[in-house]
This record gives sequence, C-alpha cells and structure tokens, in this order.
Amino acid sequence: MNFVRPSETLDRYASVAALIAASDGERPVQCLRPQGLKAAANAFLSGFPGETMFAVKCNAHPAVLKTLAEAGISSWDVASETEIAAAHAVSPDGTLYFHHPVKTPQSIRNAYERWGVRHFVVDCLNELSKVLENTGADAFITVRLSVPQDYAVYDLSTKFGATVPQATAVLAAAHGAGRKVGVSFHVGSQCLAPDSYSKGMRMALDAGNAARVHLSYINVGGGFPGYYATTSCVPLETYFEHIAEARRTLGIADDTTLMCEPGRALVYNAGSLLTRVLLVKDEAVYLNDGIFGGFAEVYWGGAALTLRYTLHGREDAAQEETRPYLIYGPTCDGNDKLPYRIELPISIKEGDWIEFHQLGAYGREMSTTYNGLGANRLVAIDEDPPVFG
Ligand SMILES: *Cc1c(COP(=O)(O)O)cnc(C)c1O
Repeated sequence: MNFVRPSETLDRYASVAALIAASDGERPVQCLRPQGLKAAANAFLSGFPGETMFAVKCNAHPAVLKTLAEAGISSWDVASETEIAAAHAVSPDGTLYFHHPVKTPQSIRNAYERWGVRHFVVDCLNELSKVLENTGADAFITVRLSVPQDYAVYDLSTKFGATVPQATAVLAAAHGAGRKVGVSFHVGSQCLAPDSYSKGMRMALDAGNAARVHLSYINVGGGFPGYYATTSCVPLETYFEHIAEARRTLGIADDTTLMCEPGRALVYNAGSLLTRVLLVKDEAVYLNDGIFGGFAEVYWGGAALTLRYTLHGREDAAQEETRPYLIYGPTCDGNDKLPYRIELPISIKEGDWIEFHQLGAYGREMSTTYNGLGANRLVAIDEDPPVFG
C-alpha cells in the first residue's frame, strides 16, 4: 500500500487580507490558523481529567496533525492504515488507537505488526475473534458501547456499539482470552449536554462490573461541541468538571485511566473557508464552493452548524441593510445549496470575498472535486482565529 500525503508545509500569509491580495479568486481556499489549534489542544491537555487523543478522521491534513503533535497531543484515534501512517509520520513515538469497530483481518495484522498498534476497539464477539487471531497477548481490547444520543447533532451509536449486556459478554470473553480490557463510547458529535458523558461512564462501569473485569480505561469519546452561531451550551471547562466529578461520584478506580478522543472541538475553530461570489441573482448568491466542497458537513448538520462569516474588503457595506440570501455552490447539481439562508448586505456582488469561519472540522475531509470544481488548497494564516461573543 502506498501512502501518498500532501506536503506538510503550507503557504503562509500574515492575514486573510494578504491572502486575498495574492489570490486570483478562481478557487476557494481553506485557511488554517495554527494558533487556534494550539489553543484548543492546550484547553484539553490542561483541562480534561485524563488522556486526550485526536480523532484523525476529523482533519487528517499533515500540517494539522503536526501542529497538534507540537502542541503536545501524542495519542491518535485512527480508523484505517492511511490514518495510522499519517499519525505515525508526525508522532513516531505517539500511541495509536485503532478505534474502528469494523476492520479487515489484514489491517489488524498490519497495525499490530508493522505499526506497533496495541489498542483495538470491538463491539461484538465476531470482531473480537478477528482481533484476538491477528494480535498478540499484549494488545488491549476496548469494547465500544452504544449510549443515548439525546443531545447530539449526529448519532454515533446506531451503526456501532454494544448494549451493556452485549458489552459484558465481550469484555468477559476478552478477559478470558487473557487480554487487558477497557470500554469506550461516543455520545454523538456536537453533544450539547455534559450529562451524556456521565451516563456513558455509568454504563461503562456497569458492563465492567457485570463482567467482573478490571477496566484499564474508560474512553468517553468525542462529541465535545464547537460553539457555532446557533450553539447554546455550557463552556468546555464545564464538560471537563462534570466528567471529573462523575469519576469521583461513580467511584471509578484510580488505576482506570480516563480518556477522550475529540475531533471537532480540537480543530473546528482553527479552520475557515475563503469563498468568492460568482453571481448574484435576485435573492440567490452563487459561491465558488458548496456542499460538495468545504461546506460538506454543513449539509448534514443543517441549522445546528450555522456559520459565522466575514465579508472582506467591503467596509462600505458594514452599515448597510441586509437580507437573507439563498447560497448556492458552484456545481451543476441542484442539491448544491446551503441548508439555511445567510444574511448579507443588499449590495453583495460578483467578485466579493466571503470567509466562513469555524470550518476546521470534517469539511475538508469530506470535500470532493465534483464537476471539476471546488479545491482543497490549504494555507496557513498567522493571525489568531476571530473571537466570537
Ligand atoms: C468521529 C469520531 C470521534 C470524533 O468525534 P467528534 O464529535 O468530532 O469529537 C471520536 N471517536 C470516534 C470513534 C469517532 O468515530
């Protein structure tokens, strides 16, 4: 297998204004503000009461992984050999967690033998057999639980995850095979209620107790929210306090390591998408990127992922009346429109530059070049990400 990766070195600009001055505007440009990544990594490393890994699928660009590694992240939640190679390249001494519940035997064997992976997730007995057959006795088995997704935008417990009784059986079997075990869950992405984490921790403990096994770790997963324009929830610190408090009240053993594996919360605020207006037609604005490009995740998340934006170089429009515009992307596909309207000044016009913020999570990974359009050029911007009140 050949792991071709883009260069880690990005073109750098002092500001988005400098980028615009140097651009022809033919293609959308994705912007990364490394300072934003460092701040988010710091918040987790200093605030989460346990070990923090990064869910690589959320943004696997080598520059993102490298910056997170430099900021102190050394644990990586990976789901494929390509992700393993990408994480290993920036963090050769880091710890890799193969946390996809459905894997090929070959990928398990390669992960164990070639990449030194010692942590594997399963959610049923059939997958457990596969992992037991293709790894040695020093590989840990984590059982993924299905937990309630009451307050999340995306459900991550229907496709995967065992019930507590099922998890109990898998834990007992893994323990019986001489393996060290742990439990993980995912409360759903963009989870707006810290309670979801303590409920999952309770269920993890119940499964461990019922199986009469020692849990080497409880992994509370990702799901920590991004604070988008329409998001209303408590700050990240409150999530961390809630999880630390649950650890105490549930009486989780001191030698059970608590872990988390955020994707979105580590990277969303560091990424933005610089687009250009191709055409204004009545109440519709056609942009040079859309839902098949950098806005891909917005299509799935809808109004819950309402984006903030900056209209660059149009200080004249600042005091102007606005109206809600339909936003179309550049492809010939009729589905290529944002799921909500965006308020823009009534003088919005062809050639204007609009930067959409908080797009560091998922959008880039889901981008296509459908119709030969869109782009995933990523550049670094030295400024800090804008602060939104
Ligand atoms: C996608 C994913 C994550 C990251 O979730 P976020 O909601 O982005 O924090 C973590 N763990 C697993 C197993 C995932 O599939």
